[in-house]
Amino acid sequence: MTGYDLSAEVITAALMTRWVGRPTVFHRTTSSTQDELKRLAEQGATEGTLVIADEQLCGRGRMARKWIAPARSSLLFSILFRPTFLLPNRAQWVTMVCALAIADAVYEVTGLRPNLKWPNDVLLRDKKLAGILTEIEISQENKIAWVIVGMGLNVNVDFSQLPELSGTAISLSEAIGRPVARLPLLTSLLSHVERRYEALRAGHSPVSEWAAHLLPLGQEVTVVAPEGTFSGFAESVDETGALLLHLPDGRTISILVGDVTLRRKTSERENNGVK
Ligand code: ATP
Repeated sequence: MTGYDLSAEVITAALMTRWVGRPTVFHRTTSSTQDELKRLAEQGATEGTLVIADEQLCGRGRMARKWIAPARSSLLFSILFRPTFLLPNRAQWVTMVCALAIADAVYEVTGLRPNLKWPNDVLLRDKKLAGILTEIEISQENKIAWVIVGMGLNVNVDFSQLPELSGTAISLSEAIGRPVARLPLLTSLLSHVERRYEALRAGHSPVSEWAAHLLPLGQEVTVVAPEGTFSGFAESVDETGALLLHLPDGRTISILVGDVTLRRKTSERENNGVK
């Protein structure tokens, strides 16, 4: 089994979860798993619903950036959560759970330890292995109605065929030198999502574990944020997931979203990826 193995039946039969991926909606091709799951969420879909596709015609990342993945080369999916137990400013915790679950599954299946990059990427050897896109609906009562987390994980992508990404992106097959079966990787990932989300529901914050493996903490960075561009020392993150940046003028500012550039590259932090 390499890249041609997924269907709703096959996934459902292989799942080791109680509610994540139940139900699973599978498409050979769809416009965007995220957009489809948003429609299902509005129609009352249950927590754990998974929409997954072999190919997305309009896969997207943050700020309408395009996610590129040749058909059957990747894991492209979105999961619906209804974390009514979280305050809206803690919604990022669901993203953290998913980022950590990607790292868990990659380690379990390949032995590789990825790093996490603030705010929402998974890196291997300083290149992007997976992207995460989180969208939230807040009700009129200021409660979370849903959180949808979309993930694109480069499994068997040959980036030498995609010159625009070859310098910044990496796939698991490139990292280990052979194809990686998507189904065991997916079922492992969904199990870790469920386990970590249940810990969250039981009151366990994922912030410290997420922060422990987060680039660029402890480094000099430049952050392009909606409020402006800032250079400084990435001190830590707060409980909401915001980056605390110490500026040369002595102030510390908190940035909720932005694009980070490291001023000095690290190589997988000397291989100390997520454990
Ligand atoms: P960045 O990580 O580049 O700062 P971002 O976190 O906003 O940006 P996403 O929204 O997660 O990125 O994804 C969109 C960006 O990821 C695109 O602009 C493109 O540069 C890059 N990209 C697109 N497809 C892939 C892929 N398969 N693997 C890695 N990177 C990709």
